[in-house]
Amino acid sequence: MFVLSYDILSKFIATKILRFENGSLSLLDRNMVIIPAEVILKLQEDLEKKLGNEEAANIVYNAGRFETVTGSVRYLKRRDELKTVFSSVSKTGDPSIEMGREMLKFMGKGDIQIREVLNKGEKIILSSNSPFSAEYLKTRGKSNGPVCHYLRGVMCGVMEAYYGGKYRARELSCAATGLSKDCIFEFVRD
Ligand SMILES: [Zn+2]
Repeated sequence: MFVLSYDILSKFIATKILRFENGSLSLLDRNMVIIPAEVILKLQEDLEKKLGNEEAANIVYNAGRFETVTGSVRYLKRRDELKTVFSSVSKTGDPSIEMGREMLKFMGKGDIQIREVLNKGEKIILSSNSPFSAEYLKTRGKSNGPVCHYLRGVMCGVMEAYYGGKYRARELSCAATGLSKDCIFEFVRD
C-alpha cells in the first residue's frame, strides 16, 4: 500500500522544496507535471510500433534515467535541508538513500526496496511495487515481458548519482507478467 506521510508533505511545503503557485508545481525548483502512468505506457507502445521493442525500451529508459541523473544535482545541492525533512525516516540506515526513496515514493514512483548490494555497489538488486506494472495489469492484462522501462531508468540514474560510474540495468522480473508480486531490477557496474 502506498502511504504518503502528511508530516513529510507539510515539511516539503514549509521548506519550499515543493511549491504550488498559479497552476505550476515545482519540486526542488524544477517544474513538474503530474501525468498518468498510463501515458508513459501509451508512449512506450507507440514507440514499439514504430521502432520495435528494444529501441522503444531504450528511449523510454533513457528518459527515466535523465529524470534522476539531472535531478540528483538539485537534490545534492539541498542535501542538508533535505536531511532535516528526512531525519525521522530511517529504513535503510543511509539518509541519502532514504531521501531518494522517499522522494520517489512522494512522486508516485513506487516503494523501492533494496534487496542486495554486492561489492560496495558493483551489483545492486532493487524491487518495487511499480505504478507502471500495476497500471498495465489493470488496463491491458498480463504482459509478455517487462514494461517498467521508465522506472528502470529512474532507478539507474539514482544508482549512478549515488555510487558514481555507469550501470547496466535489467528488469529481472516484472509484476505486469503476473509471474511476480513486485518488479525486480538488477544494476551491474559497467
Ligand atoms: Zn515491472
